[in-house]
Amino acid sequence: MIQLSDRLLAMEESATIAMSRKSRELKDEGKDVISLSLGEPDFHTPDFVKNAAVEAMEQNYTTYTPVPGYDDLREAISKKFLRDNGLKYDKTQIVVSTGAKQSIANVVMSLVNPGDEVIIPAPYWVSYIEIVKVAGGIPVIVNADITADFKVSGKELEPHISDKTKLIMFSTPCNPTGSVYSKDELKDLATTISKYKHVTVMCDEIYEHINFVGKHESLAQFDEVYDQVVTVNGVSKAWAMTGWRLGYIGAPKKIAAACSKVQGQFTSGASSITQKASIAAMEKDPSFLKDMLDAFKNRRKLVLDALQKMEGVKVNEPEGAFYFFPDISSFFGKSDGSHKINNANDLSLYLLEEALVALVTGDAFGDPNCIRISYATDEATLTKAMNRIAEALQKLS
Ligand code: PMP
Ligand code: GLU
Repeated sequence: MIQLSDRLLAMEESATIAMSRKSRELKDEGKDVISLSLGEPDFHTPDFVKNAAVEAMEQNYTTYTPVPGYDDLREAISKKFLRDNGLKYDKTQIVVSTGAKQSIANVVMSLVNPGDEVIIPAPYWVSYIEIVKVAGGIPVIVNADITADFKVSGKELEPHISDKTKLIMFSTPCNPTGSVYSKDELKDLATTISKYKHVTVMCDEIYEHINFVGKHESLAQFDEVYDQVVTVNGVSKAWAMTGWRLGYIGAPKKIAAACSKVQGQFTSGASSITQKASIAAMEKDPSFLKDMLDAFKNRRKLVLDALQKMEGVKVNEPEGAFYFFPDISSFFGKSDGSHKINNANDLSLYLLEEALVALVTGDAFGDPNCIRISYATDEATLTKAMNRIAEALQKLS
């Protein structure tokens, strides 16, 4: 009999991926399901990136690649870090991986021993917890709710830092809340964290370019924590390249070398064609992304207006990424006669069955009072989805 490992049995399936699978299955059954579950841009990869990939194939960039990435890609990433973030990372501090998800897993595998504590402010991105658990780490959750715009301060973090703390993991702009840490807020975190030199911070900046409040700020810009920070980024979101699979880190040399070692055993270097195409993306001025940002801005307004009109729904105004994370706890205890809503999971299943709209329960992101709505889809579909949600919620009393 096949016996799976304890490690695997303790792991939850990714809720984002599970929900998008479920909505795909319902669509295959002929149901008119609208999926607002997966954080995936609905734009196409820009032509100049696709052309660079074709050129790479024609030039026979089709073999194994250096484990941490081609030199020219790492140089392009190094320039991008300086141009967009004011961060100085030389080539030896950069490791390219098969998606930011792998970059994150590499960092955790490189740093976390069984029993080490990893501080994760909640709401957090689903995969952080499970990756930490696989490494035997102990997630230490620091809750931030909607009244604090889902952000934590240095003062709130500090009591949770112990001798056992190895890592702190967070994203800005944040998945699932869309919250963006300002320069002052990051400085405040840096001031606290710099007192604890045994702690590393993984700052996930994959939504860097989807920011509605101005310039993206990086934690690693502050000298007092530069040596403690791993900056994670990738091409999936801004460049609409989710399927190409490319992420990267800028990190202290020791961590970069460790990540390269892990990757050398698990997967080797990222796809040669994707890497060459990503050079084109890295070299492009990000002002190219303005049309995409404008589209997300309009969608955000549409969804915000609709959510604000729904009685019982509490919503913050997300400053980045493409998610809303409304608090829907006022519906707990209510029913439409056949569905009793006890928690966010019940509500998301109710909305799937009754409104045919797929969302993700907040539990998966560490906040059981909320649901996550991805608005990476066109305005007509969003309008339809919001109308259906409003109608279904009105039936609950
Ligand atoms: N971090 C966050 C916060 C994300 O939302 C995602 C979404 N996929 C990732 C990392 C991983 O991205 P990638 O597609 O590069 O693996
Ligand atoms: N990051 C996206 C999300 O949160 C894609 C799904 C995933 O990679 O888990 O929906």
